Amino acid sequence: MKFGVFLALIKMKFSDYPIAQAIKDQLNQLEFKKPTDIQFKSIPAILKGEDVMAIAQTGTGKTAAFVVPLLDHLIRKHRGSYKGIRTLVMVPTRELAQQINEVFNTIAKKTEIKSFGLYGGVEQEQQIKRLSKKVDVLVATPGRMFDLIAQGAIDVSRVEHLVLDEADLMLDMGFKKDIDDIVKKIPKNRQTLFFTATIDKKIKSLAYSVVKDALRIQISPKNPVAKNVDHAVLFVEMDDKRFFLENILKEYEEDKFLVFVRTKVRAERVVGAMDRVEMPTRFFHGGLEQSERFQILDAFRKDEIRVLVTTDVAARGIDIPSVKYVINYDMPDDPENYVHRCGRCGRGRNRGQALSFCSPSEKEFLAQVEEYTGETIEQYEMEPGDYSAIMFDSDDASNNWQKLLDEDNDFNNKKDEW
Ligand code: AMP
Repeated sequence: MKFGVFLALIKMKFSDYPIAQAIKDQLNQLEFKKPTDIQFKSIPAILKGEDVMAIAQTGTGKTAAFVVPLLDHLIRKHRGSYKGIRTLVMVPTRELAQQINEVFNTIAKKTEIKSFGLYGGVEQEQQIKRLSKKVDVLVATPGRMFDLIAQGAIDVSRVEHLVLDEADLMLDMGFKKDIDDIVKKIPKNRQTLFFTATIDKKIKSLAYSVVKDALRIQISPKNPVAKNVDHAVLFVEMDDKRFFLENILKEYEEDKFLVFVRTKVRAERVVGAMDRVEMPTRFFHGGLEQSERFQILDAFRKDEIRVLVTTDVAARGIDIPSVKYVINYDMPDDPENYVHRCGRCGRGRNRGQALSFCSPSEKEFLAQVEEYTGETIEQYEMEPGDYSAIMFDSDDASNNWQKLLDEDNDFNNKKDEW
């Protein structure tokens, strides 16, 4: 290894990259001075037109890792007349389509390049109208995209760059056939960028069916749990979780929380329980109208909502920088989801805290998380009496003393068995 490589790594700034000045100026305005690890590794290869397969999670700066070089391609190659959709980004969720589209349009602000985010759950008319105008980059979820291709509102025959983002979630959500279908519809001679947060046999086989001689990049594979997040687990009975959540939300009334549950029904129940104690929270899940989902996320970003109770799929990949606490109200049944959940706090230079509520029936999920991450999660120790005190402090009128004392005794008796 030559020293020069290290020096380049230390010194390299966006201003040193061979990219269009309009992109550099905008990156400077956004205060993106130096590339993140994933950007440092992938931008040169993407600029050269190579295929890339990257294993990186949200929070690593992976969006700009493809947005910056792809915009550069679009600016350089297509000066002058408009040639239709040149870059297609396929994503699993509507929120991701909106978020990535916004990153494209923000970084492209000082250029002529136009990106459009396309997803279902909203009226088609406006989208069809927009698609008839200039769209260089289409960021889309599969369902609506195929509908509009079938209606002739989208022409993918000139796509030169295909990005598959959060490919592992696309597989989980059953979009494998959609990926195969889109690959058949766009030109063979293209650049393909494949991004996944996790890797296994199925994802590898999907990746190698779409990329050619790809550069493989992996960001922090050994310890997938974000480094600047402190983790703790609290052993608590399933039915008592709401009292503990109430207690924490009251204790840290200035901070923003993401609370994860396993199902939509659980999300609504937790919000109902918090309503009863006059603790404002909102639920967020795929069963909501799309306009409401965007409105809730926007309000959460702007700090108008402090506590968001969400399911795994709905919150995947979402970038909200100021979340300080993640509460795993339910333990995730898939250990990968633990990593995705905790990655939602402690973004950038901020420290985050992840607290998991583990009931006796969820102990196996905890063991799976510890095995997957290779780390033992520190147990949050409670003094005898703390458990009932927390429940007694609740503003929920349905509590009574005797029940609390019984539960406290129960808890102390069972604690050692857990
Ligand atoms: P992502 O992983 O793409 O969701 O990005 C995570 C966050 O990092 C976003 O809020 C970006 O705005 C931010 N970000 C991405 N690249 C950089 C950079 N080079 N410098 C500073 N912030 C960045």
